[in-house]
Amino acid sequence: MQFFKNLFSKSFSTQLMVTSSNGFHLRPVARFTTLAKSFSCDVTASFNDKSVDATKVNTLLSLSLEKQNTFTLTTQGKDAQKALTALQTLFETLMQDDVEVTAIQKENANYAGETLEGDIISKGVAIATATVYETETIQHDNSLTFKDAIEKTLQNLEKKSDESDIYLAQKELLSALVEKCDSIKDLETLVTEESSKLQGTKLAAKSVDYQDILQQVKTALGMEIKVLFPQHDFILLANDLLPSEIALLSETKVQGVILKQTSINSHTAILLRASGIASLIANIDKIPLDKEILLDSFAGVVVLTPSSEDIQKAKTIQEKTKKQKAHSDAKRFESANTAQGKQIKVFANVGDVASAKVAKDAGAEGIGLLRSEFLFKSKKPTLEAQTKAYTEIFETFEDITVRTLDVGGDKALPYLHIPLENNPFLGIRGVRLFRTHPEILEEQLHAIFIAAEGKKIKIMFPMVSMVEEFNKAKTFAQNVAQKQNIDISNIDFGIMVEVPSVLFLIEAFNEVVDFYSIGTNDLTQYLFAVERTHPLLKVDELSPVIFSALETIVNQATKPISICGELAANTAAIEKLINLGLTTLSVNPKSIAQTKEHIRHV
Ligand code: PEP
Ligand code: MG
Repeated sequence: MQFFKNLFSKSFSTQLMVTSSNGFHLRPVARFTTLAKSFSCDVTASFNDKSVDATKVNTLLSLSLEKQNTFTLTTQGKDAQKALTALQTLFETLMQDDVEVTAIQKENANYAGETLEGDIISKGVAIATATVYETETIQHDNSLTFKDAIEKTLQNLEKKSDESDIYLAQKELLSALVEKCDSIKDLETLVTEESSKLQGTKLAAKSVDYQDILQQVKTALGMEIKVLFPQHDFILLANDLLPSEIALLSETKVQGVILKQTSINSHTAILLRASGIASLIANIDKIPLDKEILLDSFAGVVVLTPSSEDIQKAKTIQEKTKKQKAHSDAKRFESANTAQGKQIKVFANVGDVASAKVAKDAGAEGIGLLRSEFLFKSKKPTLEAQTKAYTEIFETFEDITVRTLDVGGDKALPYLHIPLENNPFLGIRGVRLFRTHPEILEEQLHAIFIAAEGKKIKIMFPMVSMVEEFNKAKTFAQNVAQKQNIDISNIDFGIMVEVPSVLFLIEAFNEVVDFYSIGTNDLTQYLFAVERTHPLLKVDELSPVIFSALETIVNQATKPISICGELAANTAAIEKLINLGLTTLSVNPKSIAQTKEHIRHV
């Protein structure tokens, strides 16, 4: 009995360093606590002699962890070891993904009228009447209890959480706060207390999220605060907006937004950028109300008294931007031929059924990389669920390359336990998973084979460094097919070229693979020995070393090659890639129209 007690109460600890300039703030904290809660164990975080429950957003946030702070994560209980590994990996991914927008570069502009400078939130040009933010309170009849209103708000936030992490963060925050509240009054007091604690810290901008959730609960209780928008075109002036109010803007005639008190990394700013509305941070007190003003958030200025030439100039920029976008969007389904008539295929990198559909609509000609690890992020999928997802994705395009699970390093799956490694980027990653988790890959390959059903698809193994590794993986796949009695003569097998050893083995690989896809993201990290997530060390992605490596591959390979690393969408690299002889670029769906248009000018 004592033995079991000791076993279950054994604790595991690790030190985690905050590497993001934003600190460990609300959005990543919410993702972290969501995972922490899913384990049967206690999870605590300690920093500067303070230990808090790391399964709750508000307590973890109260550590105010900033960049370069190192805290101790401890897990204790049944799932302790599994939880520690999963949380550590998630934390590293969150730090890597949490890129701070530094000041957005301003373009030059010369206006005759008096101008007011500001910081760019989102680029664009707007000419309309300056309208100040106004609200009215409406009391609806409503019999919801406080508990019902919380439930309704949590459900609304859950529904929206697929659109943005911000809503997931608000949901987690509300769940944590209401544990201590029995009435709207309690919630109001707590929100005031908690947001005042944030003042003066790097997380001050997040107090708007506290206000926002309070407002959403009040609305659910019938106390709606309605924002009054005019019926004509307008540029909205406000001290700040609640994140939930940005969604309302899309239904109005808003042309631009100028905010006084937000920051370029606030949730409001993130949502404004995502909505594409021209917006700026500037001192709104200096802007004349109900007059026509000009907002040029390419140049980061508001023209308070625009002359007719200024208006004309702004309209020309507006037209040009609109035309360029409309032009490349309109031609997104056309092939991309260089000025000399060479056709370059533009494929998409996708992660799930939804992004495959987005890629189709964005003008992709195929899927150059299906990152299958993103298909089933939170729990281990069944064979049926996998088969269904692959079947739907395979219906989107004729030409599809599926990559087998590429976990390890910066990518984690919470249900897949990889023992702690000193250097995970050089450990069990990609194809090396065949050694530790053959059953997972067996099931994945089985699902892909069922879904392919005679269709010609490509299967690609990631992180291959030696020919024997590829041979073993392919034989493994053939054995799966034989066991399941599925004919796979329709399937090609190839590799990601992302480990430098492959550069010296191309002749031998030519004998066995059907195709190559170059992953410049990892190839760059391994060529320069600079971890791709490192906060301080950065590699020049246009370094001649990288192009020289690409040249080696293109010159020696006798099988089709495509490129699916980020470099393929870099407009400063596209011409060089084409000149090297690459004819298939696989890019993120958002970059397809622009990449095609760029190719047409090579
Ligand atoms: C790469 O390494 O370039 C690549 C495309 O794969 P990922 O970014 O998924 O590792
Ligand atoms: Mg890679």
